[in-house]
Amino acid sequence: MKKYVYSFGGGTADGNIKMKEILGGKGAGLADMSSAGLPVPPGFTISTEVCTLFFENNRQVPADVAKQTREGIAILEKQMGQKLGDPKNPLLLSVRSGAKFSMPGMMNTILNLGMNDATAAGLAEKSGNARFAYDCYRRFIQMFGQVALNIEMEHFDHIYDTRKAKKKTKNDTDLTAEDLQAIIADYKKLVLKETKKPFPQDPMVQLEMSRDAVFSSWWNPKAAYYRKMEKIPDEIGTGATVQAMVFGNMSDASGSGVGFTRDPGTGEKVFYGEYLLNAQGEDVVAGIRTPEPISKLKTMMPEVYSQLVEITSNLEKHYRDMQDFEFTIEEGKLYMLQTRNGKRTGPAAVRLAVEMVEEGLISKEEAVMRVAPAQLDQLLHPVFDAASLKTLTLLGAGIEASPGAAVGRAAFSAEDAVAMKAKSSAPVVLVRKETTPDDIHGMDVAKGILTAVGGKSSHAAVVARGMGRPCIVGASVINIDEKGKKFTVNVGGKTVTVKEGDYISINGTDGKIYLGEAKTTDPDPNSGHFATLLKWADEFRGHFGVRANADIPRDAKVARAFGAEGIGLCRTEHMFFAEDRIKIVQEMILATDEKGRRKALKALLPMQRKDFAGLFEAMEGFPVVIRTLDPPLHEFLPKRENLMVDVAKLPYVDAKEKKRMAAEYGFAVKDLKKALPALLRRVEELHEFNPMLGHRGCRLGITYPEITEMQAQAIFEAAVQVTKKGKKILPEIMIPLIGSVKELEHQRKIVVDVATAVLAKAGMPDMKYMVGTMIEIPRAAMTAELVAKEAEFFSFGTNDLTQTTMGLSRDDYTKFSKHYEDIKVFQADPFAVLDREGVGRVIEYAVKAGRSTRPDLEIGICGEHGGEPSSVEFCYMIGMDYVSCSPYRVPIARLAAAQAALSKGDKSEAMRTA
Ligand code: PEP
Ligand code: MG
Repeated sequence: MKKYVYSFGGGTADGNIKMKEILGGKGAGLADMSSAGLPVPPGFTISTEVCTLFFENNRQVPADVAKQTREGIAILEKQMGQKLGDPKNPLLLSVRSGAKFSMPGMMNTILNLGMNDATAAGLAEKSGNARFAYDCYRRFIQMFGQVALNIEMEHFDHIYDTRKAKKKTKNDTDLTAEDLQAIIADYKKLVLKETKKPFPQDPMVQLEMSRDAVFSSWWNPKAAYYRKMEKIPDEIGTGATVQAMVFGNMSDASGSGVGFTRDPGTGEKVFYGEYLLNAQGEDVVAGIRTPEPISKLKTMMPEVYSQLVEITSNLEKHYRDMQDFEFTIEEGKLYMLQTRNGKRTGPAAVRLAVEMVEEGLISKEEAVMRVAPAQLDQLLHPVFDAASLKTLTLLGAGIEASPGAAVGRAAFSAEDAVAMKAKSSAPVVLVRKETTPDDIHGMDVAKGILTAVGGKSSHAAVVARGMGRPCIVGASVINIDEKGKKFTVNVGGKTVTVKEGDYISINGTDGKIYLGEAKTTDPDPNSGHFATLLKWADEFRGHFGVRANADIPRDAKVARAFGAEGIGLCRTEHMFFAEDRIKIVQEMILATDEKGRRKALKALLPMQRKDFAGLFEAMEGFPVVIRTLDPPLHEFLPKRENLMVDVAKLPYVDAKEKKRMAAEYGFAVKDLKKALPALLRRVEELHEFNPMLGHRGCRLGITYPEITEMQAQAIFEAAVQVTKKGKKILPEIMIPLIGSVKELEHQRKIVVDVATAVLAKAGMPDMKYMVGTMIEIPRAAMTAELVAKEAEFFSFGTNDLTQTTMGLSRDDYTKFSKHYEDIKVFQADPFAVLDREGVGRVIEYAVKAGRSTRPDLEIGICGEHGGEPSSVEFCYMIGMDYVSCSPYRVPIARLAAAQAALSKGDKSEAMRTA
């Protein structure tokens, strides 16, 4: 018989930590803790495979599962000395989800299973604590009703709150056993009304329904959303762990808590967590009551506290990673309910990894492998500018739950946040009373999250940290009116109201909330743990380079500060677009003959020369790849539609409007009558139906060779200038969008001729430079062995290469991308994550073919994919020399390259260079 159920408890277990795939993280962690002799309530895990089969078989589990579950219960009953459903001595259970990858709060949990009319009365008698027994029963009906019977929580809340109102109390703990019995009676009526069946009294039926509800929650919309966001596969399913209950709600000597062995927000080595006395676990994480900091437990229950510290620090040493744990104290006795590697923010991930190396807990390689490259993003973004904060009104502070600065317009529901973001690109901050996991889509679009209640371990705070969003929770200073879409704060005796759309600035690092839009400053990438980790990454990355896409000296400087080793793409057209140049460029385009074009190009020459000199200086000692002009010429001219309207209206407009037109198109008013239609004619001539496949790239330089000539002249004159200052430079001139080697040959000749002339004149005939090409068209890739005859380097322009290989417009894909990615035609956006299966094969072919002609061919990538971790790994694996990406992604690419080198590449070589 196939094994579906894995028991643990009493110092042994069927499973272990390596079985996360089968048992889920929670099941595997409990099995491991149990084997290590830690105080873990016994239980068993129904494997993730059963979840998969459940969905495959129309929500039915295999027949053997029931039998194995009964056996699991029998073992459990023996260990606990209790019996499921026995009124005199009832065994109560929890049923929890747990997948291989943690998905905090996204799936369902049921506690206090086994409660029914008889066991409630029995438990009341046995424990001598009727209040406790009926509290368990009402909690069970409520949770089971919501999760397994799909009854709206509001209905239960209404009954519960009405009773509290009747008692004139706000505290749950003021309700007596009699109150709770009355609530239970009402809950049962509610169940009958909503489901047309009485509340199930048979514990085995309760268990089966709870198991199925936990499995079903794998497809909760929030769980599905979370998986998509975190790139967790849909196929893996969740385990269901059934465990004997221990009771944090038995008395004030009992309680429940959650914690981390280090601060998951900053990575600091401090014991971190919170707890509530006389409460069950979900009370702590649900954000309904604001819990106490764990440090308070030290004074309240010193022995339990030191036992907890000892156990969790041993767990950290054992798993060699920060642990996220849950515990319950039942009448002064500590039980561990969960341990897992904790989710952490980017700054915490970096600090933890580096400090664990310093502590001798992990190696440098492990540290480098531990930090997800995308998480570095959180360390690369601005923090609040102190001076600008002084100009804003400080509204108060809450509990800092996830660090970082966020500025945005207040939105008071997840739906509003999504709608506001869809309407405008201005940022949004999500403000809620308590963020529940149902808010996941709103949290995803928000720059930051602010809640009025809840603690550092509320599920939403955990999720915010996982997403790297700045988050403040438990900000009791704000009085929130979610329906009215506003909150008020008392500031120095005055009421300040913040309405939907008003800007607020929140600092998740210190918990402070400001009214208004704070300015931000850039972080320093060359200090602290961040710099240390990246230094190690560079050691392992070995020969594989990381360059930046930068068009102006300022960006080049930023890129260099982030560790770029050169420029992999300078898009020269971005220099043409500058305000002081656009008129000259237009003049060049409008010229009717070569003479006219050359005149305009002559005016552009000194400007381009200055730009290139700035780039060479900023990247001194490193290569600078400069691409000749790429976009269609009509992009430099006014919009055709606007022009058509203005030409049509011209005879009828007044002097003021004529003045506007003259200023807009750069003509004298008196010339408008002739010049405007002429301009329109030229725009019409240049108009293309498919500009992306039209007169762009090298096709421009081929039809107007004088453009390439001018650019080459500017490049080499700048090179001479900077070399004369004693600086070492390495120019690489790159020809875009070729499909045939003939195109490259044509352009290369122009560049080489100009270079030879300029360098000879300067007395520097031996200056080193390279001429190469972009590979952006499949034809170039498939004829790469020919192209390489004329190219000293290849750089894959994967934006265009993806577009041309897939026949998919890079500008229009987003119109239907959601649908395509939902039904998994593509696993991810192919313009963000390189499509290895298709485009990747074209690239691989071209790399091999190119090197068959020229073994020392330098090969890199400069499309957007150059800064995306999985694409970087691919580039490493197929033997490219470098990747090039935007300046802020350079550290991400450095880390991703190191990880590729350590995991897939030649590790021995990486070690040698270390
Ligand atoms: C590319 O196509 O990948 C590329 C880098 O060029 P551009 O994005 O400028 O077309
Ligand atoms: Mg391109």
